[in-house]
Amino acid sequence: MTVTGRIHSVETCGTLDGPGLRFVIFTQGCPLRCLYCHNPDCREVTGGTEITVDELITEILKYKNYIKNGGVTISGGEPMLQPEFVREVFRKCKKNGIHTALDTSGFTTIELVKPVLEFTDLVLLDIKSFIPETYRKVTSKDLEPTLKLARYLHEIHKPTWVRFVLVPDLTDADENIRGLADFVATLDNIERLEVLPFHQMGSYKWEELGYDYALKETPPASPTQVSNTINIFKAKGVPVFAGAAIAL
Ligand code: SF4
Repeated sequence: MTVTGRIHSVETCGTLDGPGLRFVIFTQGCPLRCLYCHNPDCREVTGGTEITVDELITEILKYKNYIKNGGVTISGGEPMLQPEFVREVFRKCKKNGIHTALDTSGFTTIELVKPVLEFTDLVLLDIKSFIPETYRKVTSKDLEPTLKLARYLHEIHKPTWVRFVLVPDLTDADENIRGLADFVATLDNIERLEVLPFHQMGSYKWEELGYDYALKETPPASPTQVSNTINIFKAKGVPVFAGAAIAL
């Protein structure tokens, strides 16, 4: 059976989404509406390009030598809108000895994600806030599915990196960061937590698409704000790093 998926684009030598040099696939379609989204053109499930797993694997294998110390990351959009496609791509990557990483918001169910995790080496879990009201304000969705996935990944000892976007006046409340730090400190599968400073580099895409960009006036997260946030995580014993200024 030929499995197909819808993708927005690929990046052949990415360095921001998991360890080493990676072939990154951005899937099309996302149920969230993050205020700071860098890829608002990934939202609609009907957009993007249809591709078969085999076509994608042929493309990936052209870069096998470059990504031998990295691997393949499937990001989005939200990859878990296409679990069968992601599973099949990862299954074939593993067959070819390629490391696999799933970048997800966690807005899914354990039932859907289980078969995908069978062929996933690393999960990049974006926890966009810890206070449920803030999470809803940022994403328009509920936080609980993400926390449920985080707990499940801990239970099955799946290596996981947590990513948190620091947005001034939105996600930077002390209570929000401390809550996330306390939660992550209870999970022993977390290899690292990346604090990603908000910036305005994606705003032009919102304008091009005619979407209303609510963070127009929001300043970028300053180095001091980033280091204060890092210190909160450090104090809880979380392996924290300052990530590149991207907003997932
Ligand atoms: S930031 Fe990621 S999860 Fe949020 S809307 Fe954009 S693609 Fe979806």
